[in-house]
Amino acid sequence: MRAVRLEAVGSIKLREVDKPVPGPDELLVRIEACGVCGTDRHLFHGEFPCRPPVTPGHEFSGIIEAVGNAVSGFAVGDRVTGDPNIACGRCPYCHAGRVNLCRNLSAIGIHRDGGFADYVVLPQKQAFVLPADLPPTHGAFCEPLGCCLHGVDLAEIKPGSSVIVLGGGVIGLLTVQLARLAGATTIILSTRQASRRALAEELGATATVDPTVADVIDAIAGPAGLAPGGADVVFECAGVRETVEQSMRLARAGGTVVIVGVTPQGMKAEFEPFDLLFRELKVVGSFLNPYTHRRAAELIASGAIEIERLISRQVPLEEAAEVIANPPAPGEVKVLVVPSRLSSLATLATGETVDDNLSSR
Ligand SMILES: [Zn+2]
Ligand SMILES: [Zn+2]
Repeated sequence: MRAVRLEAVGSIKLREVDKPVPGPDELLVRIEACGVCGTDRHLFHGEFPCRPPVTPGHEFSGIIEAVGNAVSGFAVGDRVTGDPNIACGRCPYCHAGRVNLCRNLSAIGIHRDGGFADYVVLPQKQAFVLPADLPPTHGAFCEPLGCCLHGVDLAEIKPGSSVIVLGGGVIGLLTVQLARLAGATTIILSTRQASRRALAEELGATATVDPTVADVIDAIAGPAGLAPGGADVVFECAGVRETVEQSMRLARAGGTVVIVGVTPQGMKAEFEPFDLLFRELKVVGSFLNPYTHRRAAELIASGAIEIERLISRQVPLEEAAEVIANPPAPGEVKVLVVPSRLSSLATLATGETVDDNLSSR
């Protein structure tokens, strides 16, 4: 089968590899779609811990092609989404129910081979069945949606809450939708790109701000702003220093800041401890998707979350390495890798390189 291999930091190639064999408790899943995530780009640039060689891709869904002999509750032909984050179940954090903090976390697409390939092996405890009539690309959104759900859970949004979302990528746009479902009545999104602002307003944002023309703090939290004094909840979904610093200034006194965006490891941001104290801000990190994957799958299966308009383009496996090695195109929200399209071209000999070395950007 074909697999996109991260062979070292800065080097990613499409290779022909052996088709994996599922263990007794595992499913062999034929990938229908796998989303390209900022984390994949961080892996490529060595900004997120990982030990190559590995096949990235942690936002995937597909059809079960084979099951191990100890598998129950799943059948060949079922459509499934995979929760890529495998907790050990026996460390102090797992025992405390904090599975996303597991000290032995093994993530599909980071520590073990993932979904930028024709097939992935998925432990049955990480699999969730999706409806057969769901568009085959939508299941790839369960993982990012599950991460956003965790952030929204931590934020404790109540009906009537005011919410600010910084960043208009897929995480920001999913968070807008979840905030709306959670009952927020004011939802303000800030992002540089006009197409993303327009999309955010279609998906439930009550107002948007262009940080390139307005002072974000003033435009939102200023006396004549959209939410004078700030909002109950601020989601940092951009993962850059500027928005991390803005987030704490945009929360109202007693408000909550949720850090969802993945900043490069080692990046620093400034804040004023006095401000946190004086205004009793709560700043929480939201990491991964503990126990939220099933709800994410339910939300997507129900159609409660708009997915179609988040898909900017679909590319074959042959183009995946290039997409991962380059920054997203302007206005792009989510790129999906869809292996089946060019599967007829999969006639390469084992070990043959089928893509240029993209080590130099
Ligand atoms: Zn991701
Ligand atoms: Zn653990």
